[in-house]
Amino acid sequence: MKFAIDHDLHNHSLISPCSRDDRQTKEAILTYALTNGFHLVGLSDHLWPDTRDIIWPYLEQLPQSKTCRFLKGAEVDMDMNFELLLHEDELPNVDYYILALTHVHLIGCVTDANKPLLTVEDTANYMKARIRKALSMDLPFERVGLAHITWISQPAGHNITECLALFSDEEWEDIFGKVAKLGMGVELNIRPADYSEEHLPKVLRPYQIAKKMGCKFYLGGDAHHPEDFRQNRYEKFQSIVDLLELTEDDKWEFVKQNRV
Ligand SMILES: [Zn+2]
Ligand SMILES: [Zn+2]
Repeated sequence: MKFAIDHDLHNHSLISPCSRDDRQTKEAILTYALTNGFHLVGLSDHLWPDTRDIIWPYLEQLPQSKTCRFLKGAEVDMDMNFELLLHEDELPNVDYYILALTHVHLIGCVTDANKPLLTVEDTANYMKARIRKALSMDLPFERVGLAHITWISQPAGHNITECLALFSDEEWEDIFGKVAKLGMGVELNIRPADYSEEHLPKVLRPYQIAKKMGCKFYLGGDAHHPEDFRQNRYEKFQSIVDLLELTEDDKWEFVKQNRV
């Protein structure tokens, strides 16, 4: 059976500093999910030092629907000391979380201001070290998603695909072999139409290797504003699912277990 477009686990509300949009309420996110016929949706606001006090209260009392479960989540960064920003005692606050290892533009939090990433090699090496560290941690991987692994924010303005090209097939195989074994979900976040013919294969390569290594996938739209919902989320998800020729067998178990 073809991979059903029935969920979205990456959504930001008005409490994320990069949203700050009064219209982006939890109710609006549920409406978006219902409009698209989803059976599972999740709130994944950024857990950063400046959101720690507001993120947990906002997750309380998420609106629910008979046809769509609304889960409590968070988008969690690893800081420049390679410590997760989600503390052990905060784990009961969420049903799941997504791990963002690519926000290297967050200087002072994710990247050390005294050790700037000056070249694309610096960024790729930093990414590799962060991924290695995350996969060696003792985390509840069956409810942890790997967020937008091919969306790398680079301070020096390098092309993302240049950075991805510095990961060999063997390196991706090693990474995704571990991800598959740990039971962590791999987020599908890219919209193929956003890439040129030249760049698309370079962005697809990691996901193709992930599939080959037995990884399981979930969808993450990463909306910060209501307009993001209207930019045809369904089409975005469908085209990446089609390109990777995914079936329901490729879907992350966490999604299957939690959708209504
Ligand atoms: Zn954001
Ligand atoms: Zn992110």
